[in-house]
Amino acid sequence: MKHRRRLLVAALGVGVALTAACTPQAEPPVRVVLITLDTLRLDSFLGSADRPGQMPRLRKWAERGRVFELYYSSTSTTQPTHATLLTGLHPWEHGVPRNGKVKARIAEGSDPARILAKARGLYDGDVSYLDGALDRVLVQLDEDREEIETHVLVVSDHGESFGEGGSVGHGRRLTTEQIRVPCFGLSPRVAPGVSVRPIGTTDLTTTILSLAGVAGEAPGGRDLVDRETEPARVVGMRRAFDRITHERRIDGSVHVLEGLRFYVLDGQDLVTGNFGRAGRSREGRIGPAALRGVRGAVHGGDAPLARR
Ligand SMILES: [Zn+2]
Repeated sequence: MKHRRRLLVAALGVGVALTAACTPQAEPPVRVVLITLDTLRLDSFLGSADRPGQMPRLRKWAERGRVFELYYSSTSTTQPTHATLLTGLHPWEHGVPRNGKVKARIAEGSDPARILAKARGLYDGDVSYLDGALDRVLVQLDEDREEIETHVLVVSDHGESFGEGGSVGHGRRLTTEQIRVPCFGLSPRVAPGVSVRPIGTTDLTTTILSLAGVAGEAPGGRDLVDRETEPARVVGMRRAFDRITHERRIDGSVHVLEGLRFYVLDGQDLVTGNFGRAGRSREGRIGPAALRGVRGAVHGGDAPLARR
């Protein structure tokens, strides 16, 4: 007997995609819930050496699942990242390289330190509120997990800079604060624990398909359910990788960003630079020559974040 699949898409908070698959009576239906959180920094979720996290409830849920501590978003801005998440294609493949205009900047003559401290306070307040809201959602999803096989994936689309490296906001540069972001999964098919294997956005697409029981995988992505240990390169790009852009930093200086277009995780090292033509190959694969190009760009000088 052939079973019909249903695909439901619902909006919840910033964005939730829900897939329900009808399976034989003997097996429970399957539900895959994807929750994307806009602009959530890793230290807001996990805390860091000099500041506690603001999401104690979400941390509790994450402890029941698998936390991917080295998750890197495909870029540091919203729309390209979401397009990658839902297609499994890199931004230079799916053709959404940027959002609208990023207008945030600190006006000349103002006190950057004071403004940044105020902004961080407001941000922390929002994160705490989000923690409570997500807790309510996860409690509800947990209530009927005996009847519905439930897989939940929680991921941030990019982070935010509060003055690190002179940057404010997100979307222009590829800094650790802007692309290494929270990611965890709650699933009866995924072993709980903490993973320190580098993963990227295209891996999530393939994993969602696998959890939903849909055949096929995104090009370049791994199924983290059973292929997490497989080596794979994590790559991404800065916003508007195909054009020169400018960034005003907190000291008032304006930087031209044209060299640092892509990043690649080399082991656990974040390397940024230009891949040249090779980085735009249709397969989205980064070959040894391209990697050499990235390294050259990094060691050539204009590399604020050559190595983490
Ligand atoms: Zn966003």
